[in-house]
Amino acid sequence: MNMISDALARVKPSASMNISAIALEKRAAGVDIIPMSAGEPDFDTPVHIKDAAKRALDAGETKYTAVDGIPELKAAIAAKFKRENDLDVDPKDCFVATGGKQIIFNAMVATLNPVDEVVVPAPYWVSYPEMVRLTGATPIIVEAGAAAGFKITPVQLEQAITAKTKWLLLNSPGNPTGAVYSKDELLALAVVLREHPHVHILMDDIYEHLTYGCKFYTMAQIAPDLGDRTVTMNGVSKAYSMTGWRIGYCTGPSWLLKAMSKLQGQSTSNPCSIAQWAAVEALNGDQSFLAEWRKVFEERRDYLVERLNKIDGIECLVPEGAFYVYPSCGGLLGKTTEGGRLLKTDEDVAMALLDEMDVATVHGGAYGVSPHFRVSYAVSKEDIGKACDRFEAFVAALT
Ligand code: PLP
Repeated sequence: MNMISDALARVKPSASMNISAIALEKRAAGVDIIPMSAGEPDFDTPVHIKDAAKRALDAGETKYTAVDGIPELKAAIAAKFKRENDLDVDPKDCFVATGGKQIIFNAMVATLNPVDEVVVPAPYWVSYPEMVRLTGATPIIVEAGAAAGFKITPVQLEQAITAKTKWLLLNSPGNPTGAVYSKDELLALAVVLREHPHVHILMDDIYEHLTYGCKFYTMAQIAPDLGDRTVTMNGVSKAYSMTGWRIGYCTGPSWLLKAMSKLQGQSTSNPCSIAQWAAVEALNGDQSFLAEWRKVFEERRDYLVERLNKIDGIECLVPEGAFYVYPSCGGLLGKTTEGGRLLKTDEDVAMALLDEMDVATVHGGAYGVSPHFRVSYAVSKEDIGKACDRFEAFVAALT
């Protein structure tokens, strides 16, 4: 008997997690692998945040908490939304989950039926279409290539919306491209969304603090009239280098938060109590290191993009945010590697880079727009330099 459910059988495993697992295995086996596939900052969690977790442990904050988060964290989230996004949010309308991922998962599972559709701009974060598919609903993929700066237009959005559309999932700064929607671009999408009051908006703002030379905006901030159908999602993973702590949060319509609470209450219950106290410190405490980290990322981005664009067959836009670049590898296809591998797809390129050059990246096919590959620059400048040497050697040896 097949024990796997139809729902799970519809879902693909996460390509970035698979490749990162292979990279970790290689490293454990002593290979000098450069891990540019993972989506996490390479900085350590700041000491004041770790100290808050230690204090929570010592104070016995080790029990179940309210399913949707401790009041102190919800207050810190409301204050953050006011301070950074100009959103007036009541702490009771804030919701905490085990990562931003669980916020999105909760929202999708709480609302979608198999007849429904969700507009997903591509390139997309690998989990969006799969979470939608798990519910039986259909992701409607709207492709925005490099020529469009990897951002969808209002016309594309209009064409994608049907009577069945329940959500638009919008991520800015974006994974895998680093593209950032400007205020005007968001305003233009808001014009379309106003015409379709049945469509809800999930803004994935997880890379909010990682923008370079441009300002971050979120939909509920620039179109407050859409606030009652917008979920503004964020988390401490990327901003505070707290990926392992698993704390994400959102605000949104109270009927939805209530439904998400019901789902979370019957699945994972509250997020880790100690991590919640650490997140209180992350949001309320010193923020000055964020500017330093941003500067480090920006320098790495500039260096990486410059070197990639010097390689024949690779073309790379300069992304305005996150810590990824998404170069095209179209010019490498049809060629054969030194190891005798014919490069037919971007997956072949990423796998050849992993096997023959010991650089872990993720193929664009996983994100819905090919031929590209995603390179994370959340590694040291030295490693970026070594990786670029290997990219150059890889391409020079192609025949
Ligand atoms: N959204 C995007 C676009 C991401 O890249 C990630 C992590 O990779 C997440 C959400 C989820 O982050 P977390 O669950 O660690 O908060």
